[in-house]
Amino acid sequence: MDAREQLKRYLEQRRDMGETELVLDGLTVDEALRILGAPAGAPQAGDRREAVSMPAIEREAPVGASVDWRETLRAAGAAPGELMSAKPAEPAPADQPSGDVPSGLTVGTSGGELFGGPMALLDSLDKLAAHVASCTRCPLYSTATNPVPGEGNPNADFMCVGEAPGATEDETGRPFVGAAGQLLTKILGAIDLKREDVFICNVLKHRPPGNRNPRPEEVTACGPYLIRQIELIRPKVILALGTFAAQTLLDTKLSIGKLRGQVHRYYGVPLVVTYHPAALLRNPGWKRPTWEDVQLARRILDSTAPSGA
Ligand code: URA
Repeated sequence: MDAREQLKRYLEQRRDMGETELVLDGLTVDEALRILGAPAGAPQAGDRREAVSMPAIEREAPVGASVDWRETLRAAGAAPGELMSAKPAEPAPADQPSGDVPSGLTVGTSGGELFGGPMALLDSLDKLAAHVASCTRCPLYSTATNPVPGEGNPNADFMCVGEAPGATEDETGRPFVGAAGQLLTKILGAIDLKREDVFICNVLKHRPPGNRNPRPEEVTACGPYLIRQIELIRPKVILALGTFAAQTLLDTKLSIGKLRGQVHRYYGVPLVVTYHPAALLRNPGWKRPTWEDVQLARRILDSTAPSGA
């Protein structure tokens, strides 16, 4: 087998194991595979779709065939289209605490209401979690053991957003409690934050079978929950963990290597991107940049008036 074919097989294996990041040059596994001429990620066995009756909120905000989850947000009564798209950053406000760290992408406007539609009925995190528990907006509920809506301080100033629950999270119904979660707890501790003081959640609230990559229609279905969580919590900083969370929130295909080291704005909330703890477990060389990223997030937190943690 020639080296090219060997590399292709290796990357396909990594992708099948749910990995999206590639060490060395910031390419994602999919980008590298495309360069090598491989087809896009194949659907996984064991994924089933069932006819289900939708609760009221889904009927008002149907999940259509669109693969752009922002379309669904708009259909659900979210802010107008122009607010939802990422655009090059305006200069950072003068009070920006990030020193000479460049500002990055801006999604939405400061103080912009994300939802005025049916999602607004979910006026607490508990109600939202209960809704997630009976959610049938995508088929993942039928293969997952438990919903994993997220947990932590409802008034948190610091919010961590990952990709999707893994096996341990699926078993326990709690986010980031497996090996990657334990590392996340340590990373938070290193910037003087306790798990219970922050809010931790994922883009997807049910586990994709076998930890495969989330599919666009699943993000479309689940995205409104995350946005509503951000709106309810109104954190002072969002830490996006890994490529998937960062690209989803920032509506971009830029690699994590390009997205980190900047302060982005998500509806006015500073958003810092760093490596996913699971990627750090595989690539200890990313510990230093991660440390820099979380210190940046901490500086932003420290520079704003205290309310939660
Ligand atoms: N990886 C994630 O992205 N989220 C979890 O909750 C666990 C592992």
